[in-house]
Amino acid sequence: GLVATGVSAWFGERKVLDRVDLVMEPGRVTALIGPSGCGKSTFLRILNRMHEMIPTASLAGEVALDGEDIYGPGRRLTEVRRRIGMVFQKPNPFPTMSIYDNVTSGLKLSGMRVPDKDALVEQCLRRAGLWNEVNKRLKAPGGALSGGQQQRLCIARSLAVSPEVLLMDEPCSALDPTSTRRIEETIGELAAEVTIVIVTHNMQQAQRVSDTCAFFLAEQDTPGHIVEAGPTTDVFERPADPRTADYVNGRF
Ligand code: ATP
Ligand code: MG
Repeated sequence: GLVATGVSAWFGERKVLDRVDLVMEPGRVTALIGPSGCGKSTFLRILNRMHEMIPTASLAGEVALDGEDIYGPGRRLTEVRRRIGMVFQKPNPFPTMSIYDNVTSGLKLSGMRVPDKDALVEQCLRRAGLWNEVNKRLKAPGGALSGGQQQRLCIARSLAVSPEVLLMDEPCSALDPTSTRRIEETIGELAAEVTIVIVTHNMQQAQRVSDTCAFFLAEQDTPGHIVEAGPTTDVFERPADPRTADYVNGRF
C-alpha cells in the first residue's frame, strides 16, 4: 500500500498541509473529504509526485509505496507515475485520438511492451465498465464520447500501465447521476486489485465507495491537516471529533 508520514506542503511561504499521516491499504478504497481549500488535491499530487511540478511548491515528510520512499534518491519519476495513476475531476482524454489509442497512450511513456495490444485494450475497457458501449467504435475519437464515458476512458487509460494505486480527484463531480453510478461500480470492482484513493465532496458517495475515510480541515490560522481518519462507518456514524460530525452532516 501507500503510506504518507508527516507530509507537509507549502506554496511559497504559505503552508497548506501540516504533518499528514495516512495509510492507504491495498484492496481498499480510501476517501479524502473536507471543505474546499483544505489541501486534498495538494495531498493527492504529493502522492504521485505531481506537486513538485508546481514551481512555488515544496514539501516535507515521506511517502512510501510498498515500503519504498517514492521521493528516495534514484527513484525514477516515470516509474513512480506508472505505479501510481491519477484520474482528474474533468475527464481529459486526448480528444482527437481514437478510443483505442487513448487506452494505449501511456505504454510508450512507461517503456512498456505488450504482446497483445488488442487484448489489453479490451481488458482495460472492460475493467473500466466501458467495453460494451464502445467495442464497435474503437476508432472513434475520445472526444466523441459523453462526459461519463470519457471519464471511464481515462480510467481505462490509467489501468493500461498496471498501476498499483489509482488516485481519483473528484472523478464524478462533472458527471450526471447515471455516469456517477457507473464509475462507483467500476471503483468497487477495481478495489480488489488496486489501492484506490478518492477525493469527493459527496458524502453519500464517500459512504458508498470507501472503506477508510480521512477528514481534512484547514482552519483560520492552521494549514490543512487530518482531523480524523478511520473506518468510514466510524467517521460517519461515530465521529470522534465534533468538527467531523458537523462536516459529514452538512453543517458547514
Ligand atoms: P477543493 O475541494 O476546492 O478542490 P482542495 O482541498 O483540493 O480544495 P487544494 O487545491 O489542495 O484544496 O488547495 C489547498 C490550498 O493550497 C488552498 O489554500 C489553495 O489556495 C492553495 N493552492 C493550491 N494550489 C496552489 C498553487 N498552484 N499555488 C498556490 N497555492 C495553491
Ligand atoms: Mg481539490
